[in-house]
Amino acid sequence: MDFTQISGKRQLAFMQDFDYIREAGTEAEQRAAERIAEEIRSLGLTPETEEFTFDTYEITEAGFAVTSPYQKEYTVTGYLGSGSTPEGGVEAPFLYAENGDDISLSYASGKIVMVNAPVRADMYEKLEKAGAAGFLSICGSPIDSGEDLKPALCTLRKVEQPAIQGACIHCTDAVRIVEEGASRARLTLSQRKVTRTSRNVRVRIQGTDRAEEILTLTAHFDSVPAGPGAYDNMAGAAIIMELCRYFAANRPRRTLEFIWFGAEEKGLKGSLAYVEAHREELKRHRFNMNVDLAGQLVGGTVIGLTGDASICSMLSWLAHEAGMGTGFVNGIWGSDSNTFAWNGIPAMTLNRDGFGMHTRHDTLALISPWSLERSARLLGYIAEHLSETEVFPFVQEIPEDMKKKLDEYFGQM
Ligand SMILES: [Zn+2]
Repeated sequence: MDFTQISGKRQLAFMQDFDYIREAGTEAEQRAAERIAEEIRSLGLTPETEEFTFDTYEITEAGFAVTSPYQKEYTVTGYLGSGSTPEGGVEAPFLYAENGDDISLSYASGKIVMVNAPVRADMYEKLEKAGAAGFLSICGSPIDSGEDLKPALCTLRKVEQPAIQGACIHCTDAVRIVEEGASRARLTLSQRKVTRTSRNVRVRIQGTDRAEEILTLTAHFDSVPAGPGAYDNMAGAAIIMELCRYFAANRPRRTLEFIWFGAEEKGLKGSLAYVEAHREELKRHRFNMNVDLAGQLVGGTVIGLTGDASICSMLSWLAHEAGMGTGFVNGIWGSDSNTFAWNGIPAMTLNRDGFGMHTRHDTLALISPWSLERSARLLGYIAEHLSETEVFPFVQEIPEDMKKKLDEYFGQM
């Protein structure tokens, strides 16, 4: 690969046009999709935009008040997907159960229970089994001030028809509630299911003499509602755009398809819609190269590879050849690559550790052209080699243990 054709500065300039929150299903996300399509056209290629719908929740009311031995309202955010309390809320004794261990939860019956970490399906099950009347989870840090005192938005995933509702509270308030000896509280939550439209943008660079075989380069371009998602994941979107530019000028033997996914943050909705829409063609897919979390300077590069362990060794060889340090994890990875692996296609996510994911601090200010350039070169090197080999070298079968984990991961999503 001719590394001089890859520019970090150009990627950063492209990212400047996306310095806003791009929550899936909003006009802002649509605007971002249109800008991506425009960039593809500027490369002399023809983009295709594929719409899909997904269900999400809209919270209309979320409240938490201590009712005894004093009365005070606190700011909370409701858990999306945890249902609605009866009108007027649930009033019950209050319990702080730390990490939700069995001893603490033995006191939970009939109570509104506060735990430290965000409540996921496994903790939710424990709370429901313990007979909790509702739950609170603690977020933020004690050194937060100003806007950061607003609790994060949480989603309860993989729980069908939840019986108890929950909310998230900032830790400074959580500290006060415990120290002031709150013994009773009221939790109010009201939400409704809504259907939204999102879209993927894709473009195909037809291979020269191995065109039947398809390799995908993918990145999501939506962000969480908290911040403009520069690191997560407009940087990834810029990296694959840079590679799209490169391969448009340097035609590969195998077909390369570039896909910018919408609604990843809503549960990989974009990639799930893609495999649904292109199901008959999936047997032509050989490998998915996804980028999620990229572009910050201080950090380490890790490739999460879902597929046979021998693929890790081959990718490691390519990284050595390219001379760029990379760690490897052979397992499932919480991004759109999982969707491909779940559909039998070996997949990787190029990830760079960094700061501020899913917060308002995830801005362009922390993005480095050096880092963008490095990641694009590494991924481009891998993609180019894989598109050129005479016989595609990867074992196509996903190992049984990973299949099982993927089934669990996608369980009731
Ligand atoms: Zn992401």
